[in-house]
Amino acid sequence: MDGDASPRGEIDGAPKGSGSLDISAPIHLDVPSLLGIVFDKLIILILSIMGLMSVKVTINNDECTGCGLCYNDECPDVFEEDDDGNSRLKAQFRKGGPQDGEIPEDKKGCAQSASDACPVSAITVG
Ligand code: SF4
Repeated sequence: MDGDASPRGEIDGAPKGSGSLDISAPIHLDVPSLLGIVFDKLIILILSIMGLMSVKVTINNDECTGCGLCYNDECPDVFEEDDDGNSRLKAQFRKGGPQDGEIPEDKKGCAQSASDACPVSAITVG
């Protein structure tokens, strides 16, 4: 017989039964990959709980002019206005005084935007 097709019309090399969905087939999980993903997530969770993935933030209160760019526009999640109109960290992020603290890694971009926008470079991130 000429050609690549088998006598029953199957294409050589194609798995038997291809072209139809076998819903009774067991799902094969790649256990090592699955464990790797779970392990990575666990490590991130533990480091977050331990505060090892936090980022240091300081505000130089002597330089701050109270323009409000950081707490009003760029990153109100992290910064707020103090009684003098200057910037301070929100209470949950303070470690020393109101201008010294640590933020979670997921707030770093926001704080960095505030630092970049600050006209007197009063905010240090990292
Ligand atoms: S952007 Fe700078 S100068 Fe303006 S309030 Fe924030 S820290 Fe102060």
